[in-house]
Amino acid sequence: MQALTNRSMVVVNKKMTWMERIYLPAIIGGLMITIRHLFKKKVTIQYPEQERPRSAVYRGWHVLKRDEQGRENCTACGLCAVACPAEAITMTAAERKPGEEHLYREEKYASVYEINMLRCIFCGLCEEACPKEAIFLTDRIVPSGMLRENFIFGKDKLVEGVEPDNRIDVSKRARAHRTY
Ligand code: SF4
Ligand code: SF4
Repeated sequence: MQALTNRSMVVVNKKMTWMERIYLPAIIGGLMITIRHLFKKKVTIQYPEQERPRSAVYRGWHVLKRDEQGRENCTACGLCAVACPAEAITMTAAERKPGEEHLYREEKYASVYEINMLRCIFCGLCEEACPKEAIFLTDRIVPSGMLRENFIFGKDKLVEGVEPDNRIDVSKRARAHRTY
């Protein structure tokens, strides 16, 4: 019968020598390999204390943007949800009431907007589909966790803050879009 691989070898059940039976040379050989690795340059880093540099247009944790006046850009049109190949986005639309003009830019807004981060494949299609420049992927990494429900990111985790210090800079991604 033809061998499946050219790395096959014939197993010989020969009797072990005295040196082989005390396993000492094999143990010393193993320790030498470990010691050699101690002095080699480490390829790992101490994450999360240390982080590797990432591309400015890395696709990570999404942000729902506000305009210059602090109003939410999203108008709950649903195009991002339709474009999402992972069906990770769900939302509930609501009508803006008189007096809420300072909160929402358009007459319709998303009262609920959720992304299932366990389904998301960070493809960026939601960002490309959005006609209002409301959703962008950012260079922030989604934190790890043990509970599935913690990966449903609602508006509390997606909408950026109103204060200038809490705004998320997406200018590099926005510029990248305009070159398409
Ligand atoms: S990045 Fe891709 S998979 Fe994730 S929510 Fe947007 S469209 Fe869906
Ligand atoms: S994020 Fe953009 S595409 Fe998605 S519902 Fe809001 S406005 Fe529409």
